[in-house]
Formats: sequence, structure tokens, C-alpha cells
Amino acid sequence: MAKGFKYGGYIGQLLRVNLHNKGITKEPLKEDWARDFVGGAGLSARILYEELPPKIDPLGPENKLVMMTGPVNGTMIPAASRSSLCAKSPYTGSFFHSIFGGFLGPELKFAGYDGLIIEGQSNSPAYLWIDDDKVELRDAGHLWGKDPFETQEILRKEIGDEEIHIATIGLAGEEKAPYAMILCDIRAAGRGGIGAVMGSKKLKAIAIRGTGGVTVPNILRLHNTAIRLNELIATTPAVQGLSEYGTPRNVAAMNEAGILPTRNWQTETFEGMKNITAEAMREKVVKGDRACFACSINCTKYSVVPKGPYQSIINGPDYETIYGFGSACAVDNIEVLCKADELCDYYGIDLISTALCIAWAMECYEKGIFTREDTDGIDLKFGNADGMLQMIEKIGKREGLGALLAKGTRAAAQIIGRDTYRFAIQNKGLEFPGHTCRPFPAAAVGYATGPRGGSHHDIRPTAEKTGLVDRKILEGKGALAAEINHWLILTDSMLLCHLAEPIWGPLKISDSVIEALNSVTGWELDYEGARKIAERQRNMIRCFAAREGFTREDDQLPIRFMEEPVPEGPMKGSHIPRETLERLKDDYYAYRGWDLKTGNPTKAKLSELGLDFAAEDIC
Ligand code: SF4
Repeated sequence: MAKGFKYGGYIGQLLRVNLHNKGITKEPLKEDWARDFVGGAGLSARILYEELPPKIDPLGPENKLVMMTGPVNGTMIPAASRSSLCAKSPYTGSFFHSIFGGFLGPELKFAGYDGLIIEGQSNSPAYLWIDDDKVELRDAGHLWGKDPFETQEILRKEIGDEEIHIATIGLAGEEKAPYAMILCDIRAAGRGGIGAVMGSKKLKAIAIRGTGGVTVPNILRLHNTAIRLNELIATTPAVQGLSEYGTPRNVAAMNEAGILPTRNWQTETFEGMKNITAEAMREKVVKGDRACFACSINCTKYSVVPKGPYQSIINGPDYETIYGFGSACAVDNIEVLCKADELCDYYGIDLISTALCIAWAMECYEKGIFTREDTDGIDLKFGNADGMLQMIEKIGKREGLGALLAKGTRAAAQIIGRDTYRFAIQNKGLEFPGHTCRPFPAAAVGYATGPRGGSHHDIRPTAEKTGLVDRKILEGKGALAAEINHWLILTDSMLLCHLAEPIWGPLKISDSVIEALNSVTGWELDYEGARKIAERQRNMIRCFAAREGFTREDDQLPIRFMEEPVPEGPMKGSHIPRETLERLKDDYYAYRGWDLKTGNPTKAKLSELGLDFAAEDIC
């Protein structure tokens, strides 16, 4: 830790870069903000609440892009590899944190910074080179127009260091496409259009080399905690499945349970499932395993399609690829899914949003709303693998129908009309991941109230899906959703990977989370102390949204989830009728101490959490 910084795990320093005047400054991290908001999403929300005026244009010069680490990053705690990229989102209109794994977060800390705040807009393409305490803005004219992989290759050669870690945008980010992502080495900070914010600043890449370390108050204590957590990882079957098969480990079981979203969520059982299971993937395309910094789970798969029309090399495919381009578009060819994944990285577009936009367009086509003329001659029916790949290219280039789909399902449905909004599978503009909530009330209210909309990192259906709680009982589901929110936001602030869910959750903040945080920082938090931090973080993010004008009315589900019961399979009949959702929202707001009418935090709640400054803005 920096000399004089009070807590372990922190460097105690932030790096601020102004792209307009080329100013580069280093400033101390506020100790009270570290203690109250920890890092990652929580700390970034506090910083952006302070520094962004309300209602700014997310693609204008006033928006800021914050890369924030957390205290456990760069230590021997397993699955503590992640980092966050945060901004006001051009896609949802509120605070957004896009989390990614790999090595970039730890590397930023090794370079001597807990976080990086990027402000202003450059007049010409630039990239940022952070080499420990030497920080430079360099011309990126030669990189503009290049895809993320080529950009990384050029930078590694140019800087002369194969070991640097790089975050970069692709063509979509340069064009400020609404769901452009940032590729961080091989991992995507995919969601919420965070790449468009970087593109609006004409910042092509951030390259980092760090040679320092992270100091903790008691190395023996940290060592023992890391050993215990690694033992838990090694002996928890649900986590071990990740090591063997990666995130698609449960595809077959999900299909059997009737919760594999299919054909743009018209049903949740996919007849082509057996060709896209984790086992099929292992057999046909997976060539090896990869891990993030200090993670013993090793969940990332490295896949190769060596030749043919779907020739590709990717890290994955992850479950969201299998769901999005597989069952949601009814494509049952694993090689095609690899190619689809590769194309999204190439153009720098969010995989989930891209897939769901195409699934929505396929449904429009099958319903006769789109003709072949509208689809640029493509027979865009469900299951047309080549048509799907062509459409990804069109979205990447914003060409023909791709220009409409690049706006996202909410905007596209508003433009097309004709009731297509009913099957735009989004909340707050963000398309849904492949984790259903139609049979799961806590997950439903969690998605509806989620600050990012359709994100499975604000809520998880695991507790209801696995029978840990009775999914059919409505009572208590507001409280359950809130406590799941809490373990998710606290780990997104420490920057622990959510894939180790059985260890960090799944019902509430676990002892392991608290032990990891205390071991690194030297704090002696108990459950109530940790929960209060998480509650403060969640309320801070809600205040940001409220200041932007969000209210209870914005806490919605896709109309399909409310009005169309699952038509077949074990979950047949499941849906969340509108009245049920409103009842769940009441339950959730009441548990949180939020105003039932507006859905926003009350003055009393904000005061209890030390957020009185926000009460002036929103109460
Ligand atoms: S579980 Fe997988 S994604 Fe998460 S930190 Fe470990 S290797 Fe990375």
C-alpha cells in the first residue's frame, strides 16, 4: 500500500487522465471512500455521482470512464482477477459497471494505481501507455480502424513488451455504436455500451505494465485464507464443473429443466440442444483451458475450428454464446457459435445484445413484419446459421438492417412499432442473458429493479433454480432478491468473480467474502458491517439512477415474461403477471426502505447509510 494509506490491499492512489488538455495527474484515494464503498462498482458509483453533472450526454465530453480495481485484486485470493469499467451508459442512460476478468485489474495495481479516471475527449485518436509511474498519451492514428486483436498485436510490438496488458475498442467503439464493448486482452467488458464511451473520447487503447505489488497487513492470515478458499474451490462440485466444462457446463440440465431460452424466448426448450452442450463443445472444438490471474478454477476454454467456413479461434464459447447464438437463434452447430463469438470480438460488439437483436429480427421475419427486402435478401428464419453470421457482420458494420439492429431491441422496436416491443427481451434497454426468471419471482424482481436492466450480475436465479428456496412462494422474495443483490455488488466492488457463486453466495454475503475482505484490508467486518457496505453501494447506484429521472415505472420486465407463459416443458405455464411483478416490487422496496410510490431511497434510508448528500438531489 502507498506510504501512509490506512488499509491493506490498496495502493492509495488514483490516476487521472484528461484527454482534452493531455493532463496526467496522480491523486490520493480517499480513505473514507475506500472504507465506505470498497472499490470496483461501489467506489466508481461514488466518484461518478460526485463528478458527473446529472443528465449529461453519455457520449459527450463530460462523461468519464473509470477503470477501478478492488482491494483483493492482485493478491493470492482466488478468483480475485476482475476489474470494472464504469461510466454513464449510452445504452441504459444510468450508471453502468462492466466487469471483466483476466489480468488488467491486477496489472493496474502493480503499476501503482487503484483506479484510472479518464475524462474529456481527445481531438485525435490516442492511446494511453501506463508503464509503472511513467504515463503517456500517444498518437493512435495508425490504430484507428483496426480490430482489437490487430491493435493489441501492433501495440505489443511497438512497445516492445509481449507481457503488457491491453484494453481496446474495435470498429463499433470507434463509431460509438450503442452496445460497443471493450476487449481487455481476451476478455470483454461487454455490456452497456462502455466501448462507445471510450470511442467518444477517441481513446483507442489502454496499455499497462506494472512491476510493483500489493501490501497486506498480515501475510500469514492472507495465506491461510487463500488456502482455505482454494480448498473450497477444489471440493465444491458446482465450481469443479466450471473447471471441466466452463460456463456452458449446465446447458443439457437447463434444457431438461425447461429453462434454456429458445427462439427469442418464445419457449425454453431447445430441440437442437445436444449439439451445443458443454460435452459436445469439449469433444468438437475445445483445445485447452485458461485461467485469470491467481484463479484455480481455470474455467475459460480455448477453442479452435481449424478450417472450413466457420474457421475461428476463440476463448470460449461461454454459456452466453451457447444461449444467445445457439438456442435463442435456434442454431445448433457449435462451430457456427465459435465463429459468431469471434465476429463479435472482431467488431467489438456485445455478444448478448448482438444475439438478442438478431433473435428479435428473426421473430419479426417469421411473423412477416420483416420481408426479405428488409433483411437485405437474407432468409432470416430461426436456425439459419449463415444468415445469423451475415447479420452479425451487418451489425458490426452498421449496414442495411444491421444499422437498425445496432441500436438495440428497445430502440429498434420503437422504430418498427407493430407490437414488436412485446418481444424485445430487455429491461432499461439492456437485453437479457440466458438465465430465465419466468418461473422465479426473486429473480424476476431482481431483474426488474436491476440498475443495469437485463444483467445476471445484479441478480441470480440459482437459489430458486436449485430448490434452495421454494420458487412457487411469493412471500419473502423481495428480501431474497435484495440479499442476492448485496453479495453481487459487494463482490463487484472487491472484484471477486461471480462464477464462484457457491462460495461467495448464493443466498447472501457469505463468510468467505468477509474473510477475504478482512484478510486483505485488515478490517474486522462482521456480517452486518459487510451487509451495510453492500446496501450503501446499492443505494448509491440507485441514487445515480434517480437523479437521472428513473423511477418505479422503469423497473420492468419484457412484456413476453409478463404476458406469455412458457408454452411447454417442465416450466409450462410459468410467467410473472404484471400484478405479481407490482406486488414483488412493493415487497422489494419495502424491505429496502425505499419509497413505494417512486421506488427511490427515502431520506431516512440515505441518512442511515451516510448518503445524506444524495437526499438533497432525489428526495
Ligand atoms: S472463475 Fe473463470 S472467469 Fe472467473 S476468475 Fe476464475 S478463470 Fe476467470
